[in-house]
Amino acid sequence: MRIAIIGGGIAGLAAAYELEKLRHSATPVDYELFEAGPRLGGVIASIVADGAASGKTVLELGPDSFLTEKPAAIELCRELGLGDDLVRSNDAERKTFILVKKRLIALPDGLMFLVPTKLLPTALTGLFSWPTKIRMGLELLHPPRPHTGDESVAALVKRHYGQEAVDRLADPLLSGIYGGDSSQLSAQTVLPRLVEMEAKYGSLTRGMLAGMQAAAEAKHAAVASGKVAEPRPLFTTLRNGLQQLVDAVVARLEASRLHLQSPIGGLSRVGAQWALAGAEGLFDSVIVATPAWAAAELLGAVDSTLADELSGIPYSSSITVNLLYEGAEFDALPPGFGFLVPVVEGRAMLACTFLHRKFPGRTAAGKTVLRAFLGGSRNAGLLAESDEFLTRLVRKELFEILQISVAPERVEITRWPRAMAQYAVGHKQRQARIQERLTGLSGLRLVGNAYDGIGISDCIRLGRAAARSLVSATTPVQTSVLT
Ligand SMILES: Cc1cc2nc3c(=O)[nH]c(=O)nc-3n(C[C@H](O)[C@H](O)[C@H](O)COP(=O)(O)OP(=O)(O)OC[C@H]3O[C@@H](n4cnc5c(N)ncnc54)[C@H](O)[C@@H]3O)c2cc1C
Repeated sequence: MRIAIIGGGIAGLAAAYELEKLRHSATPVDYELFEAGPRLGGVIASIVADGAASGKTVLELGPDSFLTEKPAAIELCRELGLGDDLVRSNDAERKTFILVKKRLIALPDGLMFLVPTKLLPTALTGLFSWPTKIRMGLELLHPPRPHTGDESVAALVKRHYGQEAVDRLADPLLSGIYGGDSSQLSAQTVLPRLVEMEAKYGSLTRGMLAGMQAAAEAKHAAVASGKVAEPRPLFTTLRNGLQQLVDAVVARLEASRLHLQSPIGGLSRVGAQWALAGAEGLFDSVIVATPAWAAAELLGAVDSTLADELSGIPYSSSITVNLLYEGAEFDALPPGFGFLVPVVEGRAMLACTFLHRKFPGRTAAGKTVLRAFLGGSRNAGLLAESDEFLTRLVRKELFEILQISVAPERVEITRWPRAMAQYAVGHKQRQARIQERLTGLSGLRLVGNAYDGIGISDCIRLGRAAARSLVSATTPVQTSVLT
């Protein structure tokens, strides 16, 4: 069986890795990977700045870590022999601030993502006005609400906690993760747990408290039976940057199967096989591991309905600005991992992470790394600005927010155009329609961050599952797309 993989981001690489493993277990499979750009890894890219005597500092140009609770990335790292290089986030110092009228205010204790669960910290926080706090208390009285179709995250949060909670909580948290806009993102896809809680309990706070109670009981039962699980860090990364994962996967693949600077121009059917514009010969199967907008271009001639669905998935663009400073700490830095900036504050920055604190082992002694995240769906125009302009802008905002005037010794600016899929209202229904079209296109799989999870672990899970499903006659078709 000859399989083409289009796209050499982590989803495509995970698929190639799985096929390579199958090949080694004597499965008759042959694969080739085509990547448009000059390097592999897609948006995963790190630089290790060597400060000689002071040690190394990792600068992450794209993602900086994976969520520990989603196991696929850690499992892959362990399989690749990187277990000893896994680095846990420094959760003892995990505190996130929100910028409100030029002041940084810590997220109150007991806030479970968007849901307040502790009365006193919610009452005392400066993050919300009194009308919002009173509304948060009254939210406990919300009656259960049956599912009535999808809606935006902003609509769900506003119904429970009011507009201020949208502006100061939902919007900054989601733009920090998705570069997205809470008034566009799907509650059903992005916050399925809260949608379920609303249907069952009415009040999200009551639903969250019930969930916490159940978790505490399960923990007690585990302790009683001697099965105490070690507490998990929220984020995990790699000692030398996430590029280490990419390099380790690539090292397991045969170089002759990896074609860089090989953009595929389109797909067509030749009998039951596939032809790729830009690649020689025919393929039995194709794993398209590009962004959905690129997949739409590839599949336009094969199935225009499918291509329309794919091009309907919105993407946001973002910019990371890594600033490396001499000086172990800056006096004005609040104690925590960083801060988020609500859109209503009118800043270019969406978030700023204090990376030397989040993953302390990856920054050389005596250095500080601040990483600003810019752009997002409401400020894509910034991508056209020069590096000088963006450096000035970020330094100006860091001065206004953190009073940092000292010049960084190094600045790394990376633009990521149309890299982050947005799970807009109706995403689940769109996925079902995509799934239906795929059943008529045997041997085709779509993987990547546009389908069933935006994170690195999701992309690895989908990539590997797609490869397995193509090879295994017993695996039902299209398990790689949201079910
Ligand atoms: C700035 C940023 C920060 C993020 N932070 C985190 C984080 O901290 N944690 C986390 O879990 N996730 C994070 N994410 C999300 C996560 O990194 C991505 O969703 C994931 O890495 C995407 O992988 P992918 O393989 O689907 O796509 P990509 O990495 O986008 O790879 C797709 C590849 O396809 C290639 N391609 C496109 N068209 C063609 C063609 N016609 N022919 C051949 N090749 C083609 C592209 O060149 C590209 O290399 C972040 C994303 C961004 C942009």
